[in-house]
Amino acid sequence: MSAEASAHSQLKRKRRRTILPGELRIRIHEDFLELRKQGLSYNKIIKEIKRRYNVTIRKSTLSGWKNRKHSPYNGIRIPTLEFLKPSEDLAYIAGAIVGDGTVYKMSISAPRYDKFFVGLTVKDKEFAEEFGRRLAKVLGREPPIPRQNKYSLWVVEVQSRTLYELLKKPIDIERIRPYVEHCERCIAMFLRGFFDSEGYAHKDGEIGVVNTNYKMLEYVIYLLKKIGIETTSEKPILHHRAGRPFRDPKKTDKVYRARKDAYYVSVRMKSNLTFYEKVGFTIERKRKRLEEYLKRRGLLPNNSLTT
Ligand SMILES: [Zn+2]
Repeated sequence: MSAEASAHSQLKRKRRRTILPGELRIRIHEDFLELRKQGLSYNKIIKEIKRRYNVTIRKSTLSGWKNRKHSPYNGIRIPTLEFLKPSEDLAYIAGAIVGDGTVYKMSISAPRYDKFFVGLTVKDKEFAEEFGRRLAKVLGREPPIPRQNKYSLWVVEVQSRTLYELLKKPIDIERIRPYVEHCERCIAMFLRGFFDSEGYAHKDGEIGVVNTNYKMLEYVIYLLKKIGIETTSEKPILHHRAGRPFRDPKKTDKVYRARKDAYYVSVRMKSNLTFYEKVGFTIERKRKRLEEYLKRRGLLPNNSLTT
């Protein structure tokens, strides 16, 4: 083969390689593992894959897979929404992100490609860790280690195009619905993520959430009801108007103005115990306040003597 022809065929191969969609790559990888088990040689595997998918895979790709140097997932074990299965972990992540998470895309130039991120910046370390643990389970990766930023807040973030697609803002309730409403536990974990993110528990027993997304709060009322938790109103209630000055706890000194109207939803006192049992908080300061209230009301055994 002339140098030119060889370069040409290399180019062709390269082109074909880059257009291979993630999902197909994964299917081929699974077939590869299966065919290896059957003891087929690389050449036979290449032929078989060509026969099945009309795709020519390179020997170097196969040996990379075998040595686990490369993964067909390119670091993305869940390459598309089709691979994402409903789970309590995913529901929790969705709730936390819908609450106050960050979901963004970063465009890299030359060669142009996009990076996709989902993450949280929060006060409570246990919240960041819980979020990271659940992310790891959903994505089949090592848990990301939360780092502290200059405002002493915990930042936990991962790259995932799939979660980006699912949770990008403005959030599409219809898109997340099958994952959120998969079962009662998934609903409860979505709500826990949301209340960890945006919720409060006051000393007097009031539990609620504040958010600027009216539709999302309507959905939260619907979900709470679905698992037997009543709210104080049928609709979200105005908390404050856009333009109200506030201090962003994430950027200490500056005074900001609220960009949007904010609304709140609060749980009826008689549903507090159900909320505690089914939903609960990961965040310790919120959970303790709720527990103390329930103990004072005699709704939880007061075991403070034994602990
Ligand atoms: Zn479920």
